[in-house]
Amino acid sequence: MTVPLVKKQNVTILGSTGSIGVNTLDVIARHGDRYALHALTANSDWETLAEQCATFSPKFAVLKQHEGVPALEERLLQAGCKTQVLSGKDSLCAVAAHEEVDVVMAAIVGGAGLEPTLSAVKAGKRLLLANKESLVMSGSLFMQSVEQAGVILLPIDSEHNAIYQCLANGAPDHAKGVRKILLTGSGGPFLRKPIESLAKVTPNEACAHPNWKMGRKISVDSASMMNKGLELIEASWLFSVNPRDIEVVIHPQSIVHSMVEYVDGSLVAQLGNPDMRTPIAHGLAWPDRIESGVPGLDFTDLVDMHFEAVDLNRYPCLALCQQVAGQAQSYAIALNAANEIAVQYFLDELIPFTDIPIIIESVLEQTSCEEAHTIENILALDEEAKHRALQKIRAR
Ligand code: NDP
Repeated sequence: MTVPLVKKQNVTILGSTGSIGVNTLDVIARHGDRYALHALTANSDWETLAEQCATFSPKFAVLKQHEGVPALEERLLQAGCKTQVLSGKDSLCAVAAHEEVDVVMAAIVGGAGLEPTLSAVKAGKRLLLANKESLVMSGSLFMQSVEQAGVILLPIDSEHNAIYQCLANGAPDHAKGVRKILLTGSGGPFLRKPIESLAKVTPNEACAHPNWKMGRKISVDSASMMNKGLELIEASWLFSVNPRDIEVVIHPQSIVHSMVEYVDGSLVAQLGNPDMRTPIAHGLAWPDRIESGVPGLDFTDLVDMHFEAVDLNRYPCLALCQQVAGQAQSYAIALNAANEIAVQYFLDELIPFTDIPIIIESVLEQTSCEEAHTIENILALDEEAKHRALQKIRAR
C-alpha cells in the first residue's frame, strides 16, 4: 500500500522561549513528519532561542529587542546553524504573515502579542491562540478580521480548548441549544489563604501555582483570578456568548478544564491531566488527533474532585472583569493595560499583591466609554491606560 505524501505544515511560534512556546516545540518534536519550523521568536532571551534554533533549524529567528542579535548570530555561526536572525516588531509581524507559513502559535505574553497575532490573522493563517490579552484588547476587530480572512481559530487556553471540544469540536452550528458555559479555575495558590494575609504575599508565592507551571505574568493573574476574568472576556468573543451566560466555578484539581450545559440538561465536560501539551496538540492537528506526550487520567485519582462557588471578596480582579465584560472596548483595554503594569510592579516587589485590583479599579474609573475600531485606536487607549496606572502607582 502506498502512503500518500502529506505536505508538512510550516509553523511560526511567536514567543517560543516561553512556557507555551517550549510545550509547543515538545509536541512538534514528536511529529517531525507533519510539522517544520518556519520561525521562532523571543523578546530578549537569545540564549534559549539559540538552543531552539540549533535543535529545530527554523528559517528565521526573531528577537524583539535588537541588543541580543550579535550574540545570537555568533552562537548560531558556531553551531553551524543556517537560521537567519531578524529583530524588531515588524519582523515579528512579517514571520507571522509570511507566505510560506501555514500555522501560527500566538504565545507572546501580554499586549505585545496583539500586532503580530493580528498580522497572522490578516494573512489568513491557521491561528493557535494562547495570547488571550490580544483578544481581550481588540475583541470585535479581532473577530471581524478572523471572519474576513476565513481563519481557522483554535483556542489554546486549556479552558477554551475544552469548551471548543464540548461544543461539538468546532462543528457548524456548534452553539445550538447551549444554556451556559461553566469556566473552571483552580483558585490558584491563595484559595485557602486568609484574605487579610494577602497583602504580604511574595511574587514567588504568587507564582507557585498548585497545578500548572506557567510564565510569571499569567501565574500572578491566576493567583488573583484576573486570568479567569480575562478568560471570561475571551470566551464571550470566541464563542459569541453573552458574558452573563458564563459561570466561573472553582475546581481546585484542574482536571475538568471546562463544561458546557445544554438546554436539555446535558452537561458536557472535557477532562485531562493539567498539561498544556494536550490543547496544543489538539490545536495543531485539528480535526485530527495526534500524540501529545500527556498520559491519560488515572481514574482512581478522580475521587477527590470537587467544585465550589467563587468568593468575589477574595478575587476582586475577577469581579472587575465581570463588570467590564460586554461593555465598550475601552474598558477591557484599560483593565488589561492597568493589570499588566500593576502585575509587573508587584513582580518587581514595588507594590503589594492587594494593590493590583485597586490600581485597575481607579484606572477604570477614569476611562471613558468608547469603542475601538482600529489598531491605532486600541494602541492609543492601551498607552493612555498604562500611563494612568503608572500615575496611580507613583501617587500611592
Ligand atoms: P512566558 O512569560 O513564559 O513567555 C512569554 C513569551 O513571549 C517568551 O517567548 C517571551 O520572550 C515573549 N515576549 C515577552 N515579552 C515580549 C515582547 N514585548 N515582545 C515580543 N515577545 C515577548 O508566557 P507563557 O508562555 O506562560 O504565556 C504566553 C501567553 O499564553 C500569555 O498570553 C498567557 O496568558 C497565555 N497562556 C499561557 C498558559 C501557560 O500554561 N503558560 C496557559 C494558557 C494561556 P523572552 O523569553 O525573551 O522574554
